Amino acid sequence: MFTETSLAGKESQYSHQNVLIVGGGPAGLATALVLAKRGWTNITVLEKRATADYYEPDKSFNYLIDGRGQKFTDLLGLTQQLATLSVPSTEFYLTVIKPNGNRKTSKVPVVDPKRKTAYWIPRRAFVNLLYQEIEKNWSNHITVLFNTQCVEINKIDVDSEDTEKLEVFAQTNNSNKTRFEPNFLVGCDGINSIVRETLKKWDKSTSNRFEMKKFPSPSSGLRYKVLSLPPKFPLDHTDKEHAVSTMAYAIRGAFRERQRSVSLGLLPLKNPDEPRSANIITYPDHQIWELKSGEEVYKFIEQAFPQLPINKILSFPEAERFAKSEGGYFPNPQYSSGLYFLFKQQPDKGIVLLGDAIHCFPPDIGQGVNSALEDVYILNEALEKSGDQLSDALPLYESWRLPDTKALIRLAQIAYPWQYNQAPVRKWLWSINFVLRLLLNRLLPYVFSPPAFFMIQNHQLSYQEILTMVQRTTQKLYLLVLAVIFGFLSLPYFVYFKDIF
Ligand SMILES: Cc1cc2nc3c(=O)[nH]c(=O)nc-3n(C[C@H](O)[C@H](O)[C@H](O)COP(=O)(O)OP(=O)(O)OC[C@H]3O[C@@H](n4cnc5c(N)ncnc54)[C@H](O)[C@@H]3O)c2cc1C
Repeated sequence: MFTETSLAGKESQYSHQNVLIVGGGPAGLATALVLAKRGWTNITVLEKRATADYYEPDKSFNYLIDGRGQKFTDLLGLTQQLATLSVPSTEFYLTVIKPNGNRKTSKVPVVDPKRKTAYWIPRRAFVNLLYQEIEKNWSNHITVLFNTQCVEINKIDVDSEDTEKLEVFAQTNNSNKTRFEPNFLVGCDGINSIVRETLKKWDKSTSNRFEMKKFPSPSSGLRYKVLSLPPKFPLDHTDKEHAVSTMAYAIRGAFRERQRSVSLGLLPLKNPDEPRSANIITYPDHQIWELKSGEEVYKFIEQAFPQLPINKILSFPEAERFAKSEGGYFPNPQYSSGLYFLFKQQPDKGIVLLGDAIHCFPPDIGQGVNSALEDVYILNEALEKSGDQLSDALPLYESWRLPDTKALIRLAQIAYPWQYNQAPVRKWLWSINFVLRLLLNRLLPYVFSPPAFFMIQNHQLSYQEILTMVQRTTQKLYLLVLAVIFGFLSLPYFVYFKDIF
């Protein structure tokens, strides 16, 4: 395991500098911090957004950083700061508000009190926490360039030496182009990664290593937008009760028809003065996506949520912004089986991919950020094991991380895909399966494992171990069902033979 002392004593023939990281999201800033802590210098992060805490309403979702993500925050000594900025999962209360105004608050049960507390934090607060750590303690090692987009990556032959050079171009908002010649290029640029796309073009093998392999999921293709509500907004027409920032809300709409029925989902937030993000997630052919103007949005929301004083909650500019916003679609679960690229005869030159650039899925299981931070943690372990030599560390990283990535994508397909009320009958069947696994696990914990959704929150289990346990329980369930069917079919024979003897 990596420690300060082990680093201090480490001497290597490799330069450990000149790193270029594309993408300043959670994976990019976390990688920069880990490399700096390992002693790497001259690390530059390119981020196309304007600032670390840049507010984009449609990307204002909350992360739940669990034990898996905390492997990274523990390594950097940031867990305490994370806790200060977050709402702990142990204090997670949910209020359901029905269209008639009835409200019911319940404490969301903690699955296993022995597990690490997880923390709810908005994306921008978490990214800003990492950025502040860079500014405070690592500014000699790391430079973050905002408003700077990576636009081109080239591999150039150096004929005289029979080696290759890496050349990267970035463009700033005022159209200035900057050229970089990094030794180590890190792709943390999300689902539409330019780094991965470039590797796909370079890859001459027939394996399509860098092609994202996509899999179906019941939640893929659902559309989402966020309605930004004022902090402490009133919860009813009496104006007596107001939203509490640390409370989650499920506000049910009054429409019943499939194409009009809508709910607002709000997750907890530490800062009581921040606007609340109300998520609207529904089918792509829902009426709400057809609304073209602020007035249409306002009218729809007013009719859908008669329990709320919409005139005090929704401003016309926000309704207008909502109408104009593109929102987004949940992606298919997908992964790339290529996680790295090395250069001829240069053991200290390479490219690596982390985070959404190598695995991406709908947010059903809350593992997007946690798996990205676990990638960073595993990369750190691979560097540690290889004395920071990229030609050894990157293949090791891929061999450790790829099997887990594949398992994660399978879990994303099965663990909790029906939570958005897409198809009530399928959801009902899925729930029976879920409850059955839960009950059998309570009865015979050594024979049946709990549902995948619960196990994912146990950071001591790898995604592979979880998937294996789920699959074993599925096999046992099939055997159980076969035994029951066989038992029923045999019943008449038992009666017959009982009568004979
Ligand atoms: C609607 C929605 C809800 C989600 N909810 C959750 C949730 O509840 N919990 C959870 O854990 N995860 C959730 N996720 C997933 C989560 O956001 C990602 O898994 C996580 O942010 C991955 O981090 P990342 O750093 O790999 O990628 P990203 O967060 O996508 O960061 C990539 C960064 O790279 C920058 N970038 C991209 N291209 C370039 C370029 N060419 N040059 C420079 N910069 C570039 C981008 O601006 C961005 O800042 C959700 C995702 C969506 C879409």
